[in-house]
Amino acid sequence: MEPKPIFNPPLHQRRHQFVVDFIKRNKTKKVVDLGCCDCTLLHRLKFHHEIELLSGVDINGEVMKKKMRSLAPLPADYLQPGDRPLSIELYQGSVTQKDSRLRGFDLVTSIELIEHLQLADVELFSEVVFGFMAPVSVIVTTPNSEFNPLLPGLVGFRHFDHKFEWTRAEFQTWALKVCEEYGYEVYFTGVGLAPPGASPTPTKFGFCSQIGVFQRLGTTENACVMPSSDVDEVFSYTLLYSVAYPSLRDNNILQGVVVNEVMYWTERLRRERMEGRTREVDEDSQVQAGRHDVIVPLVQLWSCCPKVKDLCGTLSHFTQLLLDHPLVTLTQDATAVLVTDQRQDQEDAEYEDLEDTGCTETEQYFLSATQEDDWESEL
Ligand code: SAM
Repeated sequence: MEPKPIFNPPLHQRRHQFVVDFIKRNKTKKVVDLGCCDCTLLHRLKFHHEIELLSGVDINGEVMKKKMRSLAPLPADYLQPGDRPLSIELYQGSVTQKDSRLRGFDLVTSIELIEHLQLADVELFSEVVFGFMAPVSVIVTTPNSEFNPLLPGLVGFRHFDHKFEWTRAEFQTWALKVCEEYGYEVYFTGVGLAPPGASPTPTKFGFCSQIGVFQRLGTTENACVMPSSDVDEVFSYTLLYSVAYPSLRDNNILQGVVVNEVMYWTERLRRERMEGRTREVDEDSQVQAGRHDVIVPLVQLWSCCPKVKDLCGTLSHFTQLLLDHPLVTLTQDATAVLVTDQRQDQEDAEYEDLEDTGCTETEQYFLSATQEDDWESEL
């Protein structure tokens, strides 16, 4: 545990905010968080519209399981699906081992993880992350031991499980070696500066959490990374959780949303016609097909519903999505929707039943009242 929070907002939030800002700037699509713990960062990232694939890895499956279900889509995600696909995958495994499913990411984050590894394992981590996974960018954060004297009451390391805490020079030596070996460049920054007055020179202690932001040089091939075809497929991690968010890029979802819009607009136009509020529409573009049927031309829906245009792009795509959908009846030439007023038809059917009995309306009332009385007395 880090000692008493001396930062507001707390340091862990600042580290996550650093990642969020990076993703916003770089429009990052595929992110894997190593040492994701209880998935707090992943949870924040799932709301970022740029991201399409979000993965987390931790050696401790139990801690991941605690909150992993909070990564599932919410009802609102189904009611208003986004236009980007988002998949989330959680793996239990060690960052010292390779797994082919983690190659090809845009960004790997390692937030306060490396100090939990033995130094020999940090070497393996470097090989796995920079040599094998070979993402475009890597963000590594780790405690800056030079800041420790400013942490009230701290004796030894900041956490009982830390195997080391590096000075800025030690972190930079490791980072520059990694760059040379695997073809990356790096800049150094951090979060959590010493409070004013703690030091005459703000740089004396540096940031509480030091950060290295690595960027891969050139393409995968000339960056000393094995191309996919030369790498054996390895699957050493266990998939704990996987979920795909509903997205408009999925044709079934898109079709469902378009059909909902069509049903809303056809019903609205039908009502307007029934209420005699749209004389023009009534006479010009809605042709009465049957007693309670209404024909709504697709071009009319196309022009009155901007969402349909946005969703479908072209009128022919719109038509295509409506064809063969069980909730939509198109005219034979597929240029209009045929709407039947089912409630009105039902009312008519009831009225016709009434007529069939040969009773007057008053007699019918008494007839049904008597039936109801009998039914009540049977209870
Ligand atoms: N990244 C988290 C965050 O930003 O809130 C906090 C990380 S926590 C301090 C360190 C995590 O590293 C723990 O969840 C631990 O289980 C995980 N860890 C330790 N050794 C690991 C290894 N070899 N492979 C994967 N995860 C490991």
